[in-house]
Amino acid sequence: MWRRVREIILQDVNNENEIKMYAVILRMNLLAMFLYYVIVLASALVASRQGAGIVAALGAAVCVGLLYDTYQNKTRFVAFTFNISITLLVLLYALMYGNQTYIYNFLYIQIVLLYAVDYLSAKKKVVCVALLVAFRLWLFYHIEKSGVVYAIGLHESVFWQVLHIITTCTMLVTIVSISTQDFREMQEKLVSYNQKLKNIASNDPLTGLRNRRSAMEYIGEKVRKYQAGDCSALTIAIGDIDFFKRINDTYGHNYGDVVLKTLADLFRSFMEGKGQAARWGGEEFLFIFYNINGDEASCMLSELRQSIRHMEFRMGADLIKITMTFGVAEYDLRNSTDTTINEADQKLYTGKEKGRDIIIY
Ligand code: GH3
Ligand code: MG
Ligand code: MG
Repeated sequence: MWRRVREIILQDVNNENEIKMYAVILRMNLLAMFLYYVIVLASALVASRQGAGIVAALGAAVCVGLLYDTYQNKTRFVAFTFNISITLLVLLYALMYGNQTYIYNFLYIQIVLLYAVDYLSAKKKVVCVALLVAFRLWLFYHIEKSGVVYAIGLHESVFWQVLHIITTCTMLVTIVSISTQDFREMQEKLVSYNQKLKNIASNDPLTGLRNRRSAMEYIGEKVRKYQAGDCSALTIAIGDIDFFKRINDTYGHNYGDVVLKTLADLFRSFMEGKGQAARWGGEEFLFIFYNINGDEASCMLSELRQSIRHMEFRMGADLIKITMTFGVAEYDLRNSTDTTINEADQKLYTGKEKGRDIIIY
């Protein structure tokens, strides 16, 4: 039931020159006003006040008619007529019940509506606001001078004040929340797009590991901590898969990708609590050990090297064995990070020369 009502209220306008948000604001406010008129009508019947009853019945009928018009591509007409009807309501109601019922709150709703359902130029809006203010002052003064139709006591005055506060606050909240909704949705979309862009810019699409750029950012971050004395050691290792080209050549590039992904998963879990693994390029990976010195990192990497050797990749009847060679270097304040990375690279090269499947520190 509630869903159906929601659908009806949020139904789009079927004319491309109309703005859906304006129609929705008007529909919600017309509904609130309709309920308001029903209460006014009931109270007029209870107190046998014919004038008030006629005003309320007419008001309710106008709301229903205008509500219908919001589905007929007449949003501009509805906005205009709704505003006029509120002015008339304020006039007639104030003449009947006086200045103490907070009926003037509706004038603020008119001002907010002028800006939220934005059909007039800035100049015209200012003129309308000025006219509404003048109207309010004149009406107040006129009533103080000439008196009212129905004399109401303190209790009734409080009743009307409460009703007017609740009705106008509901309308105000509706207008503001609907008009800011598009903006909020846009902001949320921007935040999620930004997050996606950040992921694309910093992750390697094949393995999901950090890419080279993001690895350098991570190293920069950790170096700053090291320099500030918040980190006891920083070690960088480069690992390269041995004879990877053969795997590609024998089993195809796709199978090579599977091997890269499987190894990347292993590296990710291996580096948990130790630092970060990144794809440095091709079949080379970078390992950044945080708070771990070169000796400790070498010990840890030898465990990793064993795990890799024991991994079994299968392709048909073939059992494929993978090995990796690592070069390790510890960062030190006298050198730059580039020097440390180059040192690790040199040691990797030495490892390859020494026959591969080895860790050089
Ligand atoms: P070495 O032991 O000396 O490192 O020998 P290698 O064959 O591993 O080294 P080489 O540099 O000759 O070959 C690396 C290969 O890695 C060549 C390239 O096609 C492959 N490669 C690089 N990136 C990818 C990738 O994203 N997917 C796949 N499947 N292969 C890749
Ligand atoms: Mg290689
Ligand atoms: Mg290589």
